[in-house]
Amino acid sequence: LKKCFDKGWVYKGRDVMPWCARCGTGISQHEIVTEGYQEVTHESVFVRFPLVGRDNEALLVWTTTPWTLSSNVAAAVGPELTYVKVQHEDGWTYYLAEEAAKQSLIGKWEVVDKMPGEALVGWEYVGPYDELPAVQKAFAEAGYTHRVIPWKEVGADEGTGIVHIAPGCGAEDFELSKENDLPVVAPLDENGIYIDGFEWLVGRSAHDVAHDVFEDLNKKGFYYRKQRYAHRYPHCWRCGNELVYRLVDEWFINMGELYDKPREEVTPEEKARSFRYQIMDAVDQANWYPSFGYDREMDWLRNMHDWMISKKRYYGLALPIYECRECGHFHVVGSRDELKERAVEGWEEFDGHTPHRPYVDAVKIACPNCGKPVERIKDVGNPWLDAGIVGISTMHYSTEPEYWRKWYPADWVSESFPGQFRNWFYSLLAQSTLMADGVGPFKNLFGYSTLYAEDGREMHKSWGNMIEFNEAAEIMGADTMRWLYASCKPEQNLRFGYHVGDETRRRFIIPLWNVYAFFVNYAQLDGWLPNGETAVSDNPAHAQLDKWIVERLNETTLAVREALNVFDSERATQHLEAFLDDLSNWYVRRSRRRFWKSEADADKAAAYATLYHVLVEFIKLLAPFIPFITEEMYQNLVRSVDENAPTSVHHHLYPQADPDALDRRLLDKMRLAITTASLGRAARSSADIKLRQPLAKARVNVGSQQEQDDLLELADVLTEEINVKEIEVVSEVGELVNYKLLPNNRVLGPKFGKLFPQVRKALMALDAAEAARKLQAGESLTLTVGDETVSLSGDDVLVQTESLGGTAVASDKGVTVAVDIELTPELIQEGYARDVVRMVNNLRKEAGLE
Ligand SMILES: [Zn+2]
Ligand SMILES: [Zn+2]
Repeated sequence: LKKCFDKGWVYKGRDVMPWCARCGTGISQHEIVTEGYQEVTHESVFVRFPLVGRDNEALLVWTTTPWTLSSNVAAAVGPELTYVKVQHEDGWTYYLAEEAAKQSLIGKWEVVDKMPGEALVGWEYVGPYDELPAVQKAFAEAGYTHRVIPWKEVGADEGTGIVHIAPGCGAEDFELSKENDLPVVAPLDENGIYIDGFEWLVGRSAHDVAHDVFEDLNKKGFYYRKQRYAHRYPHCWRCGNELVYRLVDEWFINMGELYDKPREEVTPEEKARSFRYQIMDAVDQANWYPSFGYDREMDWLRNMHDWMISKKRYYGLALPIYECRECGHFHVVGSRDELKERAVEGWEEFDGHTPHRPYVDAVKIACPNCGKPVERIKDVGNPWLDAGIVGISTMHYSTEPEYWRKWYPADWVSESFPGQFRNWFYSLLAQSTLMADGVGPFKNLFGYSTLYAEDGREMHKSWGNMIEFNEAAEIMGADTMRWLYASCKPEQNLRFGYHVGDETRRRFIIPLWNVYAFFVNYAQLDGWLPNGETAVSDNPAHAQLDKWIVERLNETTLAVREALNVFDSERATQHLEAFLDDLSNWYVRRSRRRFWKSEADADKAAAYATLYHVLVEFIKLLAPFIPFITEEMYQNLVRSVDENAPTSVHHHLYPQADPDALDRRLLDKMRLAITTASLGRAARSSADIKLRQPLAKARVNVGSQQEQDDLLELADVLTEEINVKEIEVVSEVGELVNYKLLPNNRVLGPKFGKLFPQVRKALMALDAAEAARKLQAGESLTLTVGDETVSLSGDDVLVQTESLGGTAVASDKGVTVAVDIELTPELIQEGYARDVVRMVNNLRKEAGLE
């Protein structure tokens, strides 16, 4: 604040601000925007403002806040709106907006004249509370009488199109008073009670005078009618009371001018004068996650008003502003030392206390201007001042600058972002800009959205959907909770609850535990212990499988590190979940027999060594996400057999892999096999044939020659996975499916109009398979229609596939699999035989036979 003061940026201003009468405090623009509006119904009122010098002629004015009428100063019209003069059966002649007449007037009336709003500007009228001393005093001082002013914002959708203006009771009204040089009549004290000068209203609360105001207006002949009116109205975010608008003295930091030109054209001199541009430089220095945070912060800096830093409270940061009552000069004290030096009384009372009320207020300093003793202003600081200085105050900025410099700025700051671009993030940036000479407060800013209950609503105890943390940790497990959080996109709201928890556990935690338990059970049965050696299977297919899962682990390690480097835990969890899927549903499933068999050969040793290695490295990767489960596994897998190993999984460095050493050929090949197998099974299931039933053949089409070779090499794996006798690779996808081209009528109709029937005809005449291939490759189709050549893209044409007779087809990622679904008697017999084997095995298991 002292630095701002030295730059001349601190000033005392008057402001009409939203105010909670119950809390006795102003509510900032930030706080209202964040969570302040509620739907409420008020009693609104239509009022006559009789025109001076015209018999029985009046403006008809409407307001939803009758308590503000005592402070009326002007009536605003839209200069370009059309107004009407209306002869009413009640004997009055009213002026109001033409469009508003029907909604405002009751009884019989007729329009006798029309005019633009401009024509009304300057008309003088009799105010509804001209008898009040406060009004007379303010008007006399300003040499003013009530009059009509122009205001572009006036519309005719609601009310009468003539707006009651009370600059002491409304923020926009206050702005208008500055533009039009209007007096300000401020009626309320800090508890929302009428102050002296308002006669019968004095001592009463603004919240409960509406009905008496109506009666009073009626008695005086101003009242026309009332109307219940539902609208969104600001409320106190702390206590829920309706806010009023109140004129107050507040302290501000000048944010500087917003120049009407692109930021890069702002000169150094202009920037030196404008705090907001200096803060923008600090915004540039950080990485923002999610990236839209950068734009939101910049948007706020472009649009924010001066920063109001004072708060009318007792507790809080005592603002070190000393304002002299004698000469009006104010001074900002920058440190305890400066306060001691300037103190003329009360230092002993304060000494030994923190700089808070009441002790700090005992100290008076000599006015640097006139020398009179001056006390501190009563205001405390906006809490965001406190919050934003954290990286400076807690890091010994004043006492140990070397230490502070070593740690500043923070590597990472994280907070739920709703509201914070205007509050905490902003305050951190502003104060760092000042204190650290333009160095931003953080290198990385990670924001995340809001947490809701799984029914999509906020959590409330009274709604029965609130879950207390300890209860959730107990029931769903802290690791499940962590995985749930880590796997949520930070920009999306997180839905939290036991169903989501169960789903998370089923999706990841249980399959992980199953792989671990599988390994541990068989290792115990076989008495297998890790000896640090890697065995290689003598079965080439198995050796390849072992190599592949290690490569997949390395690939995952690289991907997870890359995601975590940019704080993207959600992407990291996706890679980790995909790896677990491959480990569980491919590697372990395809290796099961290697663990089951009785002979302890090299193949089995290789399977153990590989799975052990992969599990241990995998839990190291997972440790920051699910620290408890991984620690449990680590203790059992590693510590129980190696007492020299680090005591905890969390004592290991995070796994690393060499991107250049990655066997991408092998990874691509196995990925293709996994995709093909899963498509083959999907095709079978689309034809409702269970996997146990052997089928004759699966035919596969893939893109490149390399992929065709890979498939043939892995044919044994695929025949097993899809349960077919034979895999055939075909080079033309047309051999597997029939393509049908359909014009996308909704696009093509408007595009070609009369030509459309001919375009459709030409499209139908194309070789469908060839056209489909082109479209899937992102190419366009060229048609000749009469003398014209037209071009169609993927959006213009719908491609339908249908399987050929006797096959079931599935297709994805450039792979198409067609499974022969014709069942011969031999295949059916074989299916029965498999069923029998399966049943016998189940019975043996139930009987406890080995
Ligand atoms: Zn309140
Ligand atoms: Zn002074």
